[in-house]
Amino acid sequence: MELPLDLGLTDKETELLQAHWALVREAHKRFNLTAVADGEAAEKHYRDCLAAREVLRGLPAGSRVLDLGSGAGFPGLVLACTCPDLAFTLVDATAKKCDFLTGAAASLGLANVEVVCGRAEELGRGPLRESCALVTARAVASLRELAELALPLLKVGGALLAMKGANWAEEAAEAEHALAELRGRIEDSREYTLSAGDRRCLLLIAKTGPTPDKYPRRPGMPHKRPLSGRQVGAAYCVF
Ligand code: SAH
Repeated sequence: MELPLDLGLTDKETELLQAHWALVREAHKRFNLTAVADGEAAEKHYRDCLAAREVLRGLPAGSRVLDLGSGAGFPGLVLACTCPDLAFTLVDATAKKCDFLTGAAASLGLANVEVVCGRAEELGRGPLRESCALVTARAVASLRELAELALPLLKVGGALLAMKGANWAEEAAEAEHALAELRGRIEDSREYTLSAGDRRCLLLIAKTGPTPDKYPRRPGMPHKRPLSGRQVGAAYCVF
């Protein structure tokens, strides 16, 4: 597969991303690494991930960017190939995916990448808590669930970049109470359309203060009982 010519990439970047895609396709023959692994991928994955570059350009050199639920490296590895001055931590809960990410980063010669295998609910209670300038997440969880996974990992003043689809505004409304509880505030939304017509949105959520110690809850809880305004007993109960 050739990447589209209008991605605004240097020759070196194009070479790296082509090499990444070859590794993804090779690994995908052995296990289910990513949902889209055919010719549509340039559009579905690379153009979409590269849209996040405009947010990363504003970060000082050396800033830590954590890609939560990186999978095959979307957007984490794609961004690491094109933003060499930033330090990337790629996180995934699945060991096979982490092995792929580690092997791919080594094979692409990326010195700015580390891979951490684990669940965000656990990492958010360890040394990575409140350590990141930016957390990116694409196709990982609904926004109110993602808020609990990602916001504890951010420094105050940092931001979550949630890469969402057409229903982003609905998700944002549903996450309103969770965001307030976890100390997040929606700062910006930038909509764009991929050539196939898919509507996408970069949703930027600022971390406004330290996340309360009780978050994240234990593994699985953010999914099983996502924070909402209707939880009896919650401090922000709206009844
Ligand atoms: N971001 C990639 C992969 C999306 S699939 C892409 O856009 O293609 C979601 C990934 O998130 C899976 O690889 C899964 O293992 C990981 N994941 C889901 N919940 C997680 C959690 N709580 N902690 C860490 N990783 C998680």
